[in-house]
Amino acid sequence: MSLCRSLTAIVLGLALAACAPVETQQAEVKPTENCPVELVVLGVGQDAGAPQIGNPDDPAWKDPSKKLYATSLGLLDHENGKRYLFEATPDIREQMQIMDTLLPYDGEGPYIDGIFLTHAHIGHYGGLMFLGRESMGAKGVPVYAMPRMKAYLETNGPWSQLVELENIELIDQSEPNGLFLDSLSKIADFEADIEVSGFIVPHRDEYSETAGYLIINTKTQDAMVFIPDVDQWDSNVELVSSVSDPKMKYAFIDATFYDDNELSGRDMSKIPHPRVTESMDLIEAAGDDSLKDKIRFIHINHTNPLRDKNSAAYKAMTERGFKLAYRGEQFCL
Ligand SMILES: [Zn+2]
Ligand SMILES: [Zn+2]
Repeated sequence: MSLCRSLTAIVLGLALAACAPVETQQAEVKPTENCPVELVVLGVGQDAGAPQIGNPDDPAWKDPSKKLYATSLGLLDHENGKRYLFEATPDIREQMQIMDTLLPYDGEGPYIDGIFLTHAHIGHYGGLMFLGRESMGAKGVPVYAMPRMKAYLETNGPWSQLVELENIELIDQSEPNGLFLDSLSKIADFEADIEVSGFIVPHRDEYSETAGYLIINTKTQDAMVFIPDVDQWDSNVELVSSVSDPKMKYAFIDATFYDDNELSGRDMSKIPHPRVTESMDLIEAAGDDSLKDKIRFIHINHTNPLRDKNSAAYKAMTERGFKLAYRGEQFCL
């Protein structure tokens, strides 16, 4: 029995509680100077975040700073007062509060100037419910979705009510199959020098296809890619060649599971998602250490040992030169 567990047992006189410290690596956001277009990480958790139902010993119940919000990125156009979200998560209230802190609503147009959805799994679109009449009663928030995702929202309640009441305005986007930087077409017009493109990635597609997004600064051609959920790296979504492109500055990629030892009692060979260890191996095999600086792991399951900065997994990841994204991490585009 570890000292930690012994103390827990003595002090509480209860059955042993899991005592591993868990870190969400959150940081206070601060307004960035001289940054016309900014990207901020709003959450790094898997769909259901953490702590989850049925995990009464998760340290995040006692320490809210250890909570994981579902994965989301915010894009802020400071010059034109526009705010965009990648994903509408069940944590959208807290995540919009972070956005409001960095760039308050200017009173013009919709409260959120655009939401880019990847797919119809709860952590990626469930937060749309907060735009409806039971909540903020949003007006005309543009929501970018691929054809199946759009049709799903239009034809299934309660989402269809958001469309009928014009809380959201669904915008169809093209569906290039895979991430090929030169072949993607922009799906949104921005006043700033920014383009966003979507592309299809392989994933469990019950209700919708699954998208990834590319964000490009059209002045510098610097690009960032967001792939929160993918079943595997394949020839359409090829990790190393995408990250090796000199235009690619940052890649926010699926880190749901660290390795195959994570879910005890389950045969993880049946469970998709590239493991973090596999993605690190692929990047290292390319033989260019500068690629590591571009990677930000995101979308971690509540069981992922990377939650704990003191875990062997976290130490191994950082020793190999890789980074986990953290809530509040800010990038200037
Ligand atoms: Zn997910
Ligand atoms: Zn998913």
